[in-house]
Amino acid sequence: MNISIIGGGITGLTTALALNKLGYSSTVYERSDQLNEIGAGLLLQPNALKVLEWLGIRDEVSKLGYEITNMEITDRFLKPFRKVSTETISDQEGNLSLAIHRADLQKVLANAVNSLQPIAYDARYVAHEIKNGKVNVTLEKSNFQTDVLLGCDGIYSQVRKAIFPDSTLRNSHQICWRGISAYKMPQELQRKSKEMWGKRIRFGFAQLSPEQVYWFAVKSRSDQDKNLNKEQVSQLFKNFTPMVSELITAADYIHEDELSDVNRLDAWSQQNVCLLGDAAHATTPNMGQGACQGIEDAYYFANTFARNSQISDAFSRFESSRRKKVDYVVNTSWMLGKIAHLGIGSILMKGISILTPDAVLQKQMKQLYEIDSF
Ligand SMILES: Cc1cc2nc3c(=O)[nH]c(=O)nc-3n(C[C@H](O)[C@H](O)[C@H](O)COP(=O)(O)OP(=O)(O)OC[C@H]3O[C@@H](n4cnc5c(N)ncnc54)[C@H](O)[C@@H]3O)c2cc1C
Repeated sequence: MNISIIGGGITGLTTALALNKLGYSSTVYERSDQLNEIGAGLLLQPNALKVLEWLGIRDEVSKLGYEITNMEITDRFLKPFRKVSTETISDQEGNLSLAIHRADLQKVLANAVNSLQPIAYDARYVAHEIKNGKVNVTLEKSNFQTDVLLGCDGIYSQVRKAIFPDSTLRNSHQICWRGISAYKMPQELQRKSKEMWGKRIRFGFAQLSPEQVYWFAVKSRSDQDKNLNKEQVSQLFKNFTPMVSELITAADYIHEDELSDVNRLDAWSQQNVCLLGDAAHATTPNMGQGACQGIEDAYYFANTFARNSQISDAFSRFESSRRKKVDYVVNTSWMLGKIAHLGIGSILMKGISILTPDAVLQKQMKQLYEIDSF
């Protein structure tokens, strides 16, 4: 059976590896002409790390990342709203989250895929049609036929547009800048990930190595906020602890995004075509779970595909195995972002944090970090 994957991002590459583990070969088609990832970091939480473990690449990934021992929301001077215990940021086996440069993760995944079947670069998906049970795919520069087409082409997915032309994005009206800075963290902030909340503006960071810090800055968007340089972004945070400006100005390069998610789709598949990762359910990044959910998709997809001989059964079981958690992540992340950017967001969050018992937080984290065994 031919399986073709559109998109060589984290979801597409992990899906190719997961399918291979269960005996299916596939080809990844990527529009860029080479491996490409923005200069930013990523938090891989225990649910994603378990999938990488299953794939046999966790140790390689872990060597390139940095374990984070504490994640919390604080005020703009790093005073925690409430102290979070280690148990709430690790899973039951004590797995912690890992901060990693996106390019490093992408390289490990791409090398593993290339050793099975070379990734087809410079292969932009344009359209497809289904005839006699086969999918005829048009790329910008060539065509091919496949039995199964997987759309892993991200939040602006063209595969999604082709099968669900009415699908839309939901704009949070928040703008985000990300960067990586050479910076030596003070001892008390080593291996910590913090998100500082001011008034409709927030700043977060995590260490990628002893000398490198990944940071992100988010603001309610106004017309003046586009294409800012790092000095202008730094100015927005002049009322925060001085470390924030130091981190922003130390970055080589900053990356700007408007934060959106995908309005909930009624279905993730149509005939022989299925969507995974951001293409199906992009989330705002407030829970640091977007890529983790794409990695989980790969695991659940391959396992349901291997256990169902009919493609339509496999697709519908995959979707039903994933909907509950994905909806929880997308909705909670959206709500967190909204609270953060209310005028009284910090006060509200502080109240919520103090009133939420540790046991409730632990239960939520357990649900998030667990994956099913097949
Ligand atoms: C500010 C910010 C911070 C984030 N932080 C985290 C975090 O800490 N932890 C976390 O888990 N997630 C995080 N995320 C989310 C994460 O970045 C995404 O969920 C993840 O990258 C999605 O992976 P993907 O492979 O599904 O899509 P993408 O990464 O978008 O990959 C899609 C791939 O498809 C290719 N492609 C697109 N169109 C075509 C086409 N027509 N033909 C062929 N190829 C195509 C693209 O070139 C790309 O390589 C964050 C997101 C943002 C915006």
